[in-house]
Amino acid sequence: MSNFLLSRLQGVPAQLRHLARALGLVWQACPGLTAAWGVLLLVQGALPVATVYLTRPVVNGLVAAIRSGGNWGPLLLPAALMGVVLLIGELIRGSIRWIRTAQGDLVQDHIMSLIHRESIAADLSFYESPDFYDHLHRARAEASYRPAALLETFGAVIQNGITLIAMLAVIASFGAWLPVALLLSALPAFAVVIRYAAMQHEFRMRTTSIERRAWYYDWLLTTGESAPEIRLFALGDYFYTGYRKLRARLRDERLALARGQSLAELSAGASSLGVTAAALVWAVWKTLHGLLSPGDLALFYQAFQQGSGLARTLLENLGQLYQNSLFLGNLFEFLALEPQVTSPEQPFPAPLRVHEGIVFSNVAFRYPDASKPALDDFSLRIPAGRIVAVVGPNGAGKSTLAKLLCRFYDPQAGSISIDGVDLRNFSIAELRRRITVLFQQPVHYNATVRENISFGDLSRDFTNGAVQAAAETADAETFIRRLPDGYENLLGHWFEKGAELSVGEWQRIALARAFLRQAPIIVLDEPTAAMDPWAEAEWLSRFRELAAGRIAIIITHRFTTAMLADEIHVIDEGRVIESGSHAELVERAGRYAQWWSSQNPE
Ligand code: ADP
Repeated sequence: MSNFLLSRLQGVPAQLRHLARALGLVWQACPGLTAAWGVLLLVQGALPVATVYLTRPVVNGLVAAIRSGGNWGPLLLPAALMGVVLLIGELIRGSIRWIRTAQGDLVQDHIMSLIHRESIAADLSFYESPDFYDHLHRARAEASYRPAALLETFGAVIQNGITLIAMLAVIASFGAWLPVALLLSALPAFAVVIRYAAMQHEFRMRTTSIERRAWYYDWLLTTGESAPEIRLFALGDYFYTGYRKLRARLRDERLALARGQSLAELSAGASSLGVTAAALVWAVWKTLHGLLSPGDLALFYQAFQQGSGLARTLLENLGQLYQNSLFLGNLFEFLALEPQVTSPEQPFPAPLRVHEGIVFSNVAFRYPDASKPALDDFSLRIPAGRIVAVVGPNGAGKSTLAKLLCRFYDPQAGSISIDGVDLRNFSIAELRRRITVLFQQPVHYNATVRENISFGDLSRDFTNGAVQAAAETADAETFIRRLPDGYENLLGHWFEKGAELSVGEWQRIALARAFLRQAPIIVLDEPTAAMDPWAEAEWLSRFRELAAGRIAIIITHRFTTAMLADEIHVIDEGRVIESGSHAELVERAGRYAQWWSSQNPE
């Protein structure tokens, strides 16, 4: 046990840092309330000692009054004081309860906003690592109650610490060995708490991914997105059973841990009880021999009994404090994650208009943990003022080049430049403002049509005309007009009166969002995937007007879309294998021509 304690104590400086940081967070969230809370705790800590001290005059006064046959005079003052002290105690308890509730809410909101800010700033690659999700899961789960628990235990440590020190002083007046015995009797309980705090932390770290998997099954069972498949393929029982099995596994382990803890606490409690009993026998013996007055005995009994309870509680509080700071370590680890894709200290201004073009030169990029590179020695020049199509089979690397252009990732080798300036020289935010993207799987915001489109550029206050023009270019105007509330209609099923759209309609809304942003670079990832073939040519001619004077990159696997572009680049296995206009590429009779004839048999 002592080795175990020693090894735990070595980690104490780190825990103390966590504790200091956690208290710093509490202070940031609500300085006024926290200061008031501290003062009240100090007073509350001192009150029990006043009660104990008043016990002696009250009991002695009582004994004297009974002996003298009814002279209650000397008893009145101490009894009245006792009443006042008890009343103040109640008042303070009530105030602290209120402060704690307010503090808990404020701290939780403060921590959630830190987590949200960190999540927004995190690299996209973080979202592809299970480790990141483990961190996020723990940070989020802990944020809801750990800071409150930490405050609770920290407050308890201060308050109980003050009371205990005062009680020990009272007890020491009966014999110097008594406080030492009392403290020693509480040590086993302390060891138990620390041991189990560490075991619970270890359990939590070990089981985070199991917990997340259970959570994922729960999500699959309860979300609209999976509901059709769950029904058609009758997957309900499969995930339901999976969920129950995982929860049972977690529960069994947790209960075994709790059982062990209860037993260990029981034996630790018995040892401290033994010490209290021995001290009491000693005091009664002294009273019987006339060495202590009945008032002294009452004082001693109260002080020792409270003191031993307090010593145990205090050490337990310390253990919990340790446990809470261990867990807050998760939060701080999460908050300490540093994005790798960063802006330079002195960025170049990103161009409002592209004059020359975008150049990918010898770019190599592999996704974190991927076995093969997505782009390999990839070179491509996209001149300004052109509509360029990028075609190729699934997995060729088409979307990856768009992601690199937005600097969601940085390539491991080579460079990407706009008008000769490497992307890494621009501020990330400014670079992204110069690009507008229709993502392959755009977000379906459960918001109004107008909001869904305006999200393309919240920095400007668009007139109705601009939103409508974007919708028209995206060919979304007709179905928007048919919605009961038109542009003010809510979309999605999350909230009341929301209308659900078809996949193609959602895509047009996303297209309108992309068009609303007046950016010099337009990237459209599969814009015509959900479009009727006969609408394609018409849509593209309208798009040509919108794209005039800008750079447009259309990623597509549809040759009927690609053929309308000014130039076409064929990508396969992370490289450009052919480039030219539709006619040139068909003429060349290479891969493009092969694919073209397989998609468009004569
Ligand atoms: P395309 O758009 O041409 O269909 P992508 O650019 O999306 O292809 O993908 C290129 C390759 O990179 C594929 O082999 C794909 O499996 C891989 N890939 C794409 N996204 C990721 C990712 N987030 N993490 C790991 N590998 C990825």
